[in-house]
Amino acid sequence: MEIRTMCLGHFLVISLALNAGLLYRDYCNGKHKSQDFFFFNNGFKNASLAAKRDAHVAKRTPFETKAPLKALGEVIDLDHGDPTMYERYWRQMGNKTTVMIPGWKFISYFSDVRNLCWFLEPEFANAIIRLHKLVGNAVTEGRHIVVGTGSTQLFQAVLYAISPPDALEPISVVSAAPFYSSYPLITDFLKSGLYKWAGDARKFKKDKPYIELVTSPNNPDGVSREAVVTQNQGTLIHDLAYYWPQYTPILSPADHDIMLFTVSKSTGHAGTRLGWALVRDQEIAKKMTKFIVLSTIGVSKESQIRAAKILQVVADSHEHRGNFKEGEAFFEHSYNLMAKRWKKLRDAVKKNKLFTLPDFSRGACNFSRRAFASQPAFAWLKCEGGVEDCESFLRDHKIITRSGKHFGESANYVRISVLPRDQVFDEFTERLSSINSS
Ligand code: PMP
Repeated sequence: MEIRTMCLGHFLVISLALNAGLLYRDYCNGKHKSQDFFFFNNGFKNASLAAKRDAHVAKRTPFETKAPLKALGEVIDLDHGDPTMYERYWRQMGNKTTVMIPGWKFISYFSDVRNLCWFLEPEFANAIIRLHKLVGNAVTEGRHIVVGTGSTQLFQAVLYAISPPDALEPISVVSAAPFYSSYPLITDFLKSGLYKWAGDARKFKKDKPYIELVTSPNNPDGVSREAVVTQNQGTLIHDLAYYWPQYTPILSPADHDIMLFTVSKSTGHAGTRLGWALVRDQEIAKKMTKFIVLSTIGVSKESQIRAAKILQVVADSHEHRGNFKEGEAFFEHSYNLMAKRWKKLRDAVKKNKLFTLPDFSRGACNFSRRAFASQPAFAWLKCEGGVEDCESFLRDHKIITRSGKHFGESANYVRISVLPRDQVFDEFTERLSSINSS
């Protein structure tokens, strides 16, 4: 019996390894055709290049390596907006954000049965409200908070909640190009009968109900946006993932019906997988809650408690500065980091005539009392001088980016993450400045 179990165990392990191997091989050989939202097909030229990248990504564990990237491998991957830039700050904070959770805690599914969103931890809700009040970036009064496993889950919950349930055809979902590349993929993933991706909002001319996604500041180009469709049959979703003072001046508290936020881009804790929605209408909040109950019966309490602690420390770093060192106020620190990175990036771009970046006008930030121009989490880089496929051009220089075509724009553009670890960003700007047209 024991032997049989062992053999079966081994068989399973081997079978798993084989399947993973086959999947990996297919991916590297370019058979992975679907534009998976996390693994865009960047068409690595061969498996060895992909393997090289994986090897050095694996080695590049949390900034313990001081060796230049060149010594570790050559590929610089700035495809995803993985916010590892923030790791250094949170390390610096030491145990201030450490959370201990004994084994008996969080056994129940429920967090607060009096709340419409009954799996929302009150501690997390309080931390969200405190942070919005401090920063002044969103109105929380008269809003229901719905927590989700990342704002990715909330986006799906909203689509479910606001789509007419009995319409003869799926409602159109639009966003002005360039739009966040995951929107079309997520919207059409399950081929829902309720809603359907309908592309660039500027080209939407139907005299029918629609849903418009307004991402402000926008991913990928960093522009502050408003709705573009002028018909009156629309419902708006405001994705405010980047409406934080390290990226853009906070001009006024956002006051929309449905607003989405995430810890991924506010504090950098993408792995915690938490987002929150501020929703004015009770029925919409209820339907969103129902969606999350039916898909995952709530959201991890451990994550919420950890995120609550992190948001509280962010607020403390501004409101109780005495307990922190000079320059450790979170948004000040991250603003300075972003300013430094954008200066480096613009200097690198100026060095040759091959690329251009968007310019942003200055605005007066009500939070920091500073006037500054946006310094987005992504750079929307354009290849000039007749280079038509900017992604391939940069890939030839071993810089992995995401082509403009995934964002409903031309392949002249690429999106580049400005949020990797210092070492990767420095190597990237150095390499960019040394590229010449030959
Ligand atoms: N919206 C936008 C505009 C984003 O850029 C992202 C992250 N790339 C998300 C939503 C998803 O965030 P989360 O990690 O919370 O799912």
